[in-house]
Order: sequence, then structure tokens, then C-alpha cells
Amino acid sequence: MPARARAAQPAPAFVLPPLPYAENALEPVISASTMGYHYGKHHRAYIDNLNRLAAGTELAGLPLEKIIAASAERADAVALFNNAAQAWNHAFYWHSLRPGGGGTPPAALRPHIEAAFGSVDACRKSLAAAATGQFGSGWAWLVMDGGKLRVVKTTNADLPLTKGMQPLLTIDVWEHAYYLDYQNRRADYVEAVIDKLLNWDFAAQNAHV
Ligand code: FE
Repeated sequence: MPARARAAQPAPAFVLPPLPYAENALEPVISASTMGYHYGKHHRAYIDNLNRLAAGTELAGLPLEKIIAASAERADAVALFNNAAQAWNHAFYWHSLRPGGGGTPPAALRPHIEAAFGSVDACRKSLAAAATGQFGSGWAWLVMDGGKLRVVKTTNADLPLTKGMQPLLTIDVWEHAYYLDYQNRRADYVEAVIDKLLNWDFAAQNAHV
């Protein structure tokens, strides 16, 4: 390829964001092998597809949240929405987990949890029920909705942002998130993630409390 043609190639709009920890940092709850596929293959593919689908459209160059908002519910932009949303969801999911996570949420978040759910344990149970009960692929979320905490679930790539809710934490319940480690035992994956990996500091940060 001549040098001039190479120089004319624009840089990709979105790049795969770095993982906030090593691929083996969430073991034994989530194996390095799962992370290798989930982050290195699935998340990367969403970014690559997003760049390919946005290129040359009026949405190219916009921030990810704007692309998500502009493509949501648009019959002519389903693939673009799915890949943009999955790019956002996965970056958010990595930060929703941390090595040595789980445990007690920060003091600033606890009154909000108690007001909404009665107790931290009831909040954990509600999140587990949403994650385990989501039929097929999707996500379970702790969100701030009109000043109140709620647990919601979404299907496939869908996310609370498009419904005016602020996500605080998420759990990926697509099979690619757990099948290598837990096979069909989604409830075991969900329980281990909630007990040992959930990043409550990230939730408090997103709640602005
Ligand atoms: Fe995933």
C-alpha cells in the first residue's frame, strides 16, 4: 500500500480500554481463561464492530454515550446500538468487580441501600435474584433511579442509561461470562461474584454519595 493511502486511514474512534487489573486477578472466582476470552475476544469484538458500523455515519466521532442514545430504539441502527452498548457495558462491568471485593458497602452508600432494600443483605439477594432470573443473555444492575436505589435486569445489550437510570454496578450474565468456569451453574457464579468481587466503592462513586 502506498504511504499516502496509509496516512489517509483515520485512527479507530474507539480503542479497547485497559482492564483495571491483571487477567488472573479475579481468580478463583473468574479464571484468567474466562477473562482472556471475555475481555480479549468478546469485548474487543464489540469495539471493532462499533468502529466498523459507526464509520462514515453521522454518529462517527461522537462519544460512546451519545452513540448509544442516538441509536437506541432505532430499527435501522440495531447492530450499531448492540455493539456500542456492549462496549459500554463491558467497560462498566470490569470496574464493577475488583480483587478482594464483596464485603460491606461504604458507609456513605449504606443508608441508601437500607432505605431502598431494608438491609445490605436484602440488596445482595435482590441483585442475585435478578442476575439468576434474567432469562437468556443480559445483565443485572444496581441503579439510582430518581434518587432511589433499585435492582433491574436488562436483556442482551440493553442498559439502564437509555431509561434515564444511573448504573452503579453490573453483573454480566451472558453465558460467555461464566460458562468456562461454572458451565450451567449461573447461580454459583452470581453468588461468588457478589460475595467476593463486587466493587462497592465503584457503586458509591457512581451514586455520588
Ligand atoms: Fe460479556
